Amino acid sequence: MKDNTKCLHSGYNPENGGPRVMPIYQSTTFKFNSTKEIGDVFDDPTKAHIYSRFTNPTVDVVEKKIADLEGGVAAMCTSSGQMASLMSILNLCNSGDSFISSASIYGGTLNLFAVTLKKLGIECIFVDVDADEKEIQAKIKPNTKAIFGETLTNPSLQVLDIEKFARVAHNNGIPLIVDNTFPTPILCKPIEYGADVVIHSTSKYMDGHALQVGGVIVDSGKFDYTNGNFPDFTEPDESYHGTVYTRDYAFAPYIIKARMQLMRDFGAYPSGNSGFLLNLGLETLAIRMEKYCSNALKAAQYFENSGKFDIVDYPGLKTNKYYELARKYMPKGQSGVISLTIKGGKEAAIKFMDGLKLASNEVHVADIRTCVLHPASATHRQLTDEQLVACGINPGLVRFSVGLEDIEDIISDIEQSLSKI
Ligand code: PLP
Repeated sequence: MKDNTKCLHSGYNPENGGPRVMPIYQSTTFKFNSTKEIGDVFDDPTKAHIYSRFTNPTVDVVEKKIADLEGGVAAMCTSSGQMASLMSILNLCNSGDSFISSASIYGGTLNLFAVTLKKLGIECIFVDVDADEKEIQAKIKPNTKAIFGETLTNPSLQVLDIEKFARVAHNNGIPLIVDNTFPTPILCKPIEYGADVVIHSTSKYMDGHALQVGGVIVDSGKFDYTNGNFPDFTEPDESYHGTVYTRDYAFAPYIIKARMQLMRDFGAYPSGNSGFLLNLGLETLAIRMEKYCSNALKAAQYFENSGKFDIVDYPGLKTNKYYELARKYMPKGQSGVISLTIKGGKEAAIKFMDGLKLASNEVHVADIRTCVLHPASATHRQLTDEQLVACGINPGLVRFSVGLEDIEDIISDIEQSLSKI
């Protein structure tokens, strides 16, 4: 199946006379005929649903659909994108370990990695997204367990050279984790370029309608965790009656381990109702992504030709530093987000944003409706000026997230606001 068809059909195949629309299983628990059958499911939790703190039939459909779209073998939904980032690392790193991350990542992820994981004894070593292989290799230590990067960075829109980061990871026997939130699997499938784990904030384009916060982790099923670097995968898990993840779940050891250890213990799992709403968003994801891309390119061209901006960052523009990389990794389009640095600095940026009438000023991005945000005052407020610059954010930067309104209306809104500056 191709992507539009997968968006509509993957994961759910109604039985004869069954409901056409995936039902909502809003139930904490599941009934079995005997104690023995419950015991059997505990022995092999992939056989049936036990408890909605870590599996649920409605969420399961969504997980299968996203895994299919990404070209992975299994997925696990989480209660937020932050939780997906956190669990993707905790599934590989224990206290005393380190991992490498591209410095160009979402501000919340940056804080999680640099501050909170540090308190847990896990060191994040940052590298420039444009670092060459030698520079990345130089950061690897004997305790380094993973490399992390964001395909198209929020909000600086730098493009990760996935193959380059995957080569360094694999030369060192460690997996590459890619946050693919902005492109979604419709525009880029990182597993095809060597990513081993893909994560998302589903709060963005996947949900698409600004209905609910969520996340997901996808296992490519390709990484060899028996290479000696990951004893937690190859030695019996005493907390789960001696399960050896690479032996007992060789098809997807990463995601089964994440579910049976991390989700079981932390319980940051979406409800059946949340799974249902996310599925509604996913059903139109492929068709929506096409329109976001075409609207954003036209808006970016308008911004560029207006002469009112010092920088118009959109990797679909020929003038953009990442144009060639974007054509390689996102040939169908470069998503709906544009980063702007207006002439006149922070003051002019705020004036421009406050003058918009159709586009709303809100802490969100990748919505169905056009929205804007000033990252230095909001999502990246906790970062110092040095940290802002290190992750590619100018204090005057405006993040413009193009929605699905008619492009003529989006542009006339921009025009009327610019005319007042
Ligand atoms: N990853 C990226 C690229 C994001 O943009 C965000 C949020 O903006 C996150 C992760 C965190 O996701 P959430 O807000 O769903 O926790």
